[in-house]
Amino acid sequence: MDAKPRLVDSHAHLDMPEFDADRPETVRRALAAGVAAILCPGDLTRAASLPALAALAEEFPTVLIAAGVHAHQAKDLAPDHLRQIRDLAGRGAIRAVGEIGLDYHYDFSPVEAQRRALREQLAVAAETGLPAILHSRLSGADIVAAVDGERFAGGGILHCFTEDWDTARAMLDRGFFVSFSGILTFPKAGALREVAARIPLERLLVETDSPYLAPVPYRGAGRRNEPAYVVETARVLAGVRGLPLEALAEATTANFARLFPFEKTGA
Ligand SMILES: [Zn+2]
Ligand SMILES: [Zn+2]
Repeated sequence: MDAKPRLVDSHAHLDMPEFDADRPETVRRALAAGVAAILCPGDLTRAASLPALAALAEEFPTVLIAAGVHAHQAKDLAPDHLRQIRDLAGRGAIRAVGEIGLDYHYDFSPVEAQRRALREQLAVAAETGLPAILHSRLSGADIVAAVDGERFAGGGILHCFTEDWDTARAMLDRGFFVSFSGILTFPKAGALREVAARIPLERLLVETDSPYLAPVPYRGAGRRNEPAYVVETARVLAGVRGLPLEALAEATTANFARLFPFEKTGA
């Protein structure tokens, strides 16, 4: 009887302090909104991150966990972080390595440290057989170069896509899925919507990147984003593709399930 389209949020930082007060309720709201699974990238540089996600995944089997050291913290990457990824992977506690990548906009870590952290974590992803969750901001060509340099063939997701078509095509050629966030709903994102129209349907995903980047109409100063809002990005993506929302939801959810098979609940 439920007419809500069945969606997946392929990227939500539910480990963040913004969710300390209502983490399980946030997942319940998402489930009620038709969000069948949520992939949460954990931050190995923050002690509270993985335990918060592990507790959530215990309660909700369709909360999936990744782990890595983000481009912003790349300068803090230590051998112990790589050991933790291997250990978590060995115990089946994570489904992907990430998010990892490059960010030349914020530049919180020196570019060389970012590149090294990305390469080292891609190597661990290859070693453990896990896909990678990649972040790229103004760094598309270098992301492609890192994947090629490591001969990384494990695929994964290029998340919160904001790069150009050349980067999209290169990453599609390398087996990656491309995930769009609430940025796609922003009035000024016309060029991004043009790229979104060209990506093969079988490689598209949607995400919130919660608590950041709330989509229109939830966008606003300091407004927290949450997985239940992923439908707004899906709605815009469906419009861009000339598809009914239900068809776009079905395709993106099936894409995610191909990459990360997850248990169906309430469907
Ligand atoms: Zn990111
Ligand atoms: Zn993120």
